[in-house]
Amino acid sequence: MKYYILFGPPGAGKGTQATAMVENYNLHHISTGALLRKEIAAGTELGALAKSLIEKGNLVPDEVVVEMIENEFKTVRGVDGFLLDGFPRTIPQAIALDEMLAKTSESVTATVSIMIPDEVVMERIKGRALKEGRADDASEDIINTRIATYHAQTEPLIEFYTKAGKYHEADGVGSIEEIKDRIFTIMDRF
Ligand code: AMP
Repeated sequence: MKYYILFGPPGAGKGTQATAMVENYNLHHISTGALLRKEIAAGTELGALAKSLIEKGNLVPDEVVVEMIENEFKTVRGVDGFLLDGFPRTIPQAIALDEMLAKTSESVTATVSIMIPDEVVMERIKGRALKEGRADDASEDIINTRIATYHAQTEPLIEFYTKAGKYHEADGVGSIEEIKDRIFTIMDRF
């Protein structure tokens, strides 16, 4: 099994590119954000906890998302690999992922990072808010908290995966098609 991590700041276009990636490489897409939004819509206890954190632009606890990922790995069959979108988002999550995969003598295949500057993050998320109506895209304050959270908690993963020789970056500024080509050029190496 291949385990690709789709990395990048909020608004980088991970969701958009994930669709093309899963199709082309026969992967199962796991978006922890989408799974959490499903829990919120279903009105579960976990959804209630997630809602209060997501709406402020904060992360949900590591254990919650780690368990979600483990469940998906256990239940999904018939694919060549997984595309993790929005996970891991902290160093403890990355360590938990390594430990999870080590149980079956597996490891992360590659981290594909879509990189865009902070100014573009704000623009893209505001555009997405008009189309998708996500609660956490609604205000500049929440978006700023998410950008700050990204820099403080998620960005250290760049060094983590660079040290592991698994970090590959695609410039995320350009047309959807151009960015897709950059990503596929990276993925074709694995
Ligand atoms: P996303 O759809 O990836 O932008 O995620 C939306 C929100 O869900 C994030 O701002 C977090 O509050 C929460 N979330 C998604 N994935 C994770 C994760 N791996 N760890 C913690 N919180 C997450």
